[in-house]
Amino acid sequence: MSKQPSSYLSSKLEGRPKADGSGNGIYSLVPIQKGELVAVFGGVVYEWDAFIHLPDRERSLCIQVEDRHFLVPRPIGEGDYVNHSCNPNAGLSGQIGLVAMRDIEIGEEVCFDYAMSDTMPYDEFDCGCGAVTCRGKVTGNDWQRPELQKRYAGFFSPHVQRKIDAHRAEGRAFERGMRKAPKYVSPVTAPAYE
Ligand SMILES: [Zn+2]
Repeated sequence: MSKQPSSYLSSKLEGRPKADGSGNGIYSLVPIQKGELVAVFGGVVYEWDAFIHLPDRERSLCIQVEDRHFLVPRPIGEGDYVNHSCNPNAGLSGQIGLVAMRDIEIGEEVCFDYAMSDTMPYDEFDCGCGAVTCRGKVTGNDWQRPELQKRYAGFFSPHVQRKIDAHRAEGRAFERGMRKAPKYVSPVTAPAYE
């Protein structure tokens, strides 16, 4: 059986332990331009009911690819060392591609925001990414935050984008309903000013 990792990491990057000893990360070896492909995730797809019984390590390295489907790397490779940041320099292109959201300098750690892929509570944690924009806690509901929807427009996984679009459509329907509601003040409850 081949030992080639199921993920791809561009030759412009390497996976290595983080300087602070808190795990692994991927780092640029040369400048990377905005829009360049950085990594492609791969592996075995699990449905939620089976996925939640996998060991913690396998779950933490996976990526959610559909409403209830998760891609788990087998075997694990450097491309699977991508971490979360609340101020990421990379975003998703489709379900499994990772691209630079801006130009990246030599030696930068390349991260994306898990809000771009996650809608389920399988990998929630207190975040210490250190970004000014750090939200402190990363959850499966972060995709609902309007400021993230705006900042990461075009970099959400398709299944997350569908949810965002549905949410917005619901919001618009609600607003239309509110505008149509008759403005009526009951004479009984209207305040008396005499
Ligand atoms: Zn953070």
